[in-house]
Amino acid sequence: MRHLPILLLAGALFLTLSACSPRVKLFEKSNMMMGTFIQITVVSASEKTADEALEAGFAEVKRLEDIFSIYRENTEFSEISRMAGIKPVSIGPESYELIMRGLEIGHLTEEGFNMAVGPAVRLWKVTESSRIPSEAELARIMPLVDPTKVILDPSKRTVFLKEKGMVLDPGGIAKGYTADKVEAVLKRKGIKSGIVAMAGDLKLFGKKPGGKEWRVAIKHPRKPGETLATLDLTDEAVSTSGDYERFFMKDGVRYHHILVPETLQPARECQSVTVVAPDGTTADALSTGIFVMGPRKGLALAERLPGIGAVIVDKDGNVLVSSSLRKRIHFE
Ligand code: ADP
Ligand code: MG
Repeated sequence: MRHLPILLLAGALFLTLSACSPRVKLFEKSNMMMGTFIQITVVSASEKTADEALEAGFAEVKRLEDIFSIYRENTEFSEISRMAGIKPVSIGPESYELIMRGLEIGHLTEEGFNMAVGPAVRLWKVTESSRIPSEAELARIMPLVDPTKVILDPSKRTVFLKEKGMVLDPGGIAKGYTADKVEAVLKRKGIKSGIVAMAGDLKLFGKKPGGKEWRVAIKHPRKPGETLATLDLTDEAVSTSGDYERFFMKDGVRYHHILVPETLQPARECQSVTVVAPDGTTADALSTGIFVMGPRKGLALAERLPGIGAVIVDKDGNVLVSSSLRKRIHFE
């Protein structure tokens, strides 16, 4: 048996891989894109097939980044916000699907997941500054953070933000969506198993060389470098939202990047939320939405939804596991 090196991902999760088969091998490539560390791993007997698939996978990430980014001017998402209060914007099928799924998961999470939170994310700029916005500043933008003012027209495939100043922020869903699209590209290139890891948003398909499921480790939210638990998964997605990677501390209080739409303050009921779902879009948006809902309501939602599992670390460090994952989770 040959052991491959442990791959450490920069995001909220990391993986341990080992290979047994002498014929198929793991090939991986990583890149900083979408403002995050992305690693694609494929299983293949052919280096050429693997290389071509990896290249096509990263080309797909770039294609989607060019549509979704709100940090560059010439993207669909920037245009959507620029035209807020002015006129509907024609969008491609990817943006339409992303916004539609975002609104659906907004309903499921009692609007805990709310892509209209963009103006507040801009005001906080958690990753760049450690300034706490004033109540007056937050009150001014509050009317803009309203998903009922996001109008999709399926016949024309347009989106209209009803008020000037609104910003649709895809940050809580786009990485999971991209993982799904990259997986589809890899499969079209002949890859039967692999992992698309967009920092803490992973899509896993097929099996490891040797036939076992992929092992995913959930990071401990308060002990850097330590693992909280592991999950064995395949043909599923897993996403973690946490308060421990994009944050600043002020006067002993932690300020981080997941905001409660009702208050526009950082969500305080959880330290981390890991969601397992059939697809990455759902896992990504639900992990953010459940983080906002808090452990009690969030766990109840995960129990109610078919195919969904959740591991929630609450604000006191208690770990709650949905019934679907209780037999599949391993604590160290
Ligand atoms: P990460 O981006 O670290 O993987 P998440 O998937 O939880 O974490 O997404 C957090 C991002 O989503 C924030 O950086 C912000 O852009 C956006 N966001 C913040 N609060 C919300 C919210 N309540 N609903 C939807 N998106 C949000
Ligand atoms: Mg998310």
